[in-house]
Amino acid sequence: MEKNKTLSQVNQIKQIVLRYLITFTVIAIAMGLRIWPLGSLELRIPWVTFYPAVMAAALHGGFISGILGTILSATVVVLWSPTDLPFIDDPGDWLGLVVFIVNGTLISLMSGAMHRAKRRATKARDEAEAANQANSIFLANMSHELRTPLNAILGFTNLLRKTQNMDEGQTKKLNIIAKSGENLLNLINNILDISKIEAGHMVIENSDVHILQLLHEIESLISIKVYEKKINFNMVLADNIPEKIVTDAGKLRQIITNLIANAVKYTEKGSISLHAKIIKTKNFQGKRIQFSVKDTGIGIKKEYQTAIFSPFEQFGTHPEATTGTGLGLAISKQYVELLGGRIWVTSTPGLGSEFLFNIPLIFSDTLNKDNSILNNNDITGLGQGQKQYRILIAEDDRDNRILLREILKPFNFSIHEAVNGKEAVQQFEEWDPDLIWMDIRMPVMNGLDASRYIKKTAKGKNTKIVALTAHALEAERLEILEAGCDEFIRKPYRDTEIYETLKKHLNIQFQYSTKKETKPEIINPRRDQLIKVSPKIIEQLHKAVVSLDQKLCHTTIDMISKENNDLGSKLRQMVDNLKYRELLTLLDNLIEEKRDEKLDSSGL
Ligand code: ADP
Repeated sequence: MEKNKTLSQVNQIKQIVLRYLITFTVIAIAMGLRIWPLGSLELRIPWVTFYPAVMAAALHGGFISGILGTILSATVVVLWSPTDLPFIDDPGDWLGLVVFIVNGTLISLMSGAMHRAKRRATKARDEAEAANQANSIFLANMSHELRTPLNAILGFTNLLRKTQNMDEGQTKKLNIIAKSGENLLNLINNILDISKIEAGHMVIENSDVHILQLLHEIESLISIKVYEKKINFNMVLADNIPEKIVTDAGKLRQIITNLIANAVKYTEKGSISLHAKIIKTKNFQGKRIQFSVKDTGIGIKKEYQTAIFSPFEQFGTHPEATTGTGLGLAISKQYVELLGGRIWVTSTPGLGSEFLFNIPLIFSDTLNKDNSILNNNDITGLGQGQKQYRILIAEDDRDNRILLREILKPFNFSIHEAVNGKEAVQQFEEWDPDLIWMDIRMPVMNGLDASRYIKKTAKGKNTKIVALTAHALEAERLEILEAGCDEFIRKPYRDTEIYETLKKHLNIQFQYSTKKETKPEIINPRRDQLIKVSPKIIEQLHKAVVSLDQKLCHTTIDMISKENNDLGSKLRQMVDNLKYRELLTLLDNLIEEKRDEKLDSSGL
């Protein structure tokens, strides 16, 4: 601290000395010029060289330099007056001198003001940068504090949801906890995202993206909401959309989901459609993939169509508007721009809106390798002949330690725990684990220091370290990887992420439940099969699907299976794979058809 202070004082002195030197030099040059070659030109206009000299001194060094230059020049003119051509000869020359001194002072004042403004701007920029830094640190801390308990809440809720012996009421309550937790996580993520973007910390994580799969995932995610509002949803995808493109899947998913969620929110009747096509534009080189989300909702007035893309801007009196944060479109816009595109809206109040965006089309050059996410429900344990791995859980939060143990339960690992970095290092030295789940923020010794220590040792090079952190900032990710960690998982994590990591780093083979070992293709039941089912049972299944009541779905399907086993298993597959929307469309069509038949037969 003291050393820094001395350094900055030395710098200041250097600057002042330099300023004086430059002032003296420019005045000396001005003096030189008046002897040669401007001497004859000057005659009785002594200020031809001194005005520019004062100006140069003032521009470079500010007020003091300008005044110093003015005084020096005036002194030279008064004291150094050649006898054959005296500068100060009559009262007019004295007036010239006074005007020069006044003008020199004005030039110095103006230049001083400019210097001050520049200094203030630099200071403000430095302060803003420091505040930004402080903001980022605050965010990192806040995200850690909020995500750590949320990790436990969501993780345990999901584990509980897998237990079989729960009644209907308990399942419903658990679903509400899970949904509220997810909403809270979404909100935290949104606030963090917008702050990260504003602080310039958001980065692109490109990978091969199976575009059709991604769009279908989004479709099934929003299908229930669409159904609840009784609006139609359809996807119109151009034939030439490639199977895979290179982009940031997470961000693309979020943009499209935000747009569709808004469309659902602000549409009461009619339809919503998602379009994707390949285009070429004048403004960008190469082909682009353009997405658009069209709705027949309330629309947006012309004067709001730009402002809605700014953070926290919400318009209109639609009751649903209060459920949002006004961040969705701001984040979407920033993401689209990060992905190299632009987003805009066309809308007519009362008729609907269309949000459009396009991003560069980069073809993936990898072959169709299987990089599908594991389905956690399929994994029942380790494959045969696998060794009993030693796994260390280094985590100060007890709930999160228990959660991780629960997730790892099916594998029969030998598991030890450490509650801080120091204990983790001790366990590593004494017990030599194969993999360490390392929480980054821990008391006594943090996860980064522990990882650095372990990775510096010879045997530590073979120990896999997976950092578990609730931190959200990119800089920390780099820090974690620089500390030697092999992987980085953000809290709240899904059990599939834990399984994927085990597979990747320990080369573990899993055992899958024979029921789901090979994922069967879901085949929709045929109309001629469905039409034979009694209307009462169809109504009951319809009711079960609308209320997302899995239990009722299964009991109704069991009744159908007794009559037609093939139809029953097809329906069961749809329910197990959450194909509720498709199932509802089928049932709706069927009910409508039966109603029409009834009307026909009654002669109406
Ligand atoms: P919010 O979380 O409030 O929905 P957004 O940033 O997603 O925040 O949207 C900002 C505002 O833009 C909304 O409050 C709404 O007024 C308007 N808006 C967004 N999408 C639509 C749409 N599809 N139809 C009508 N208005 C919309």
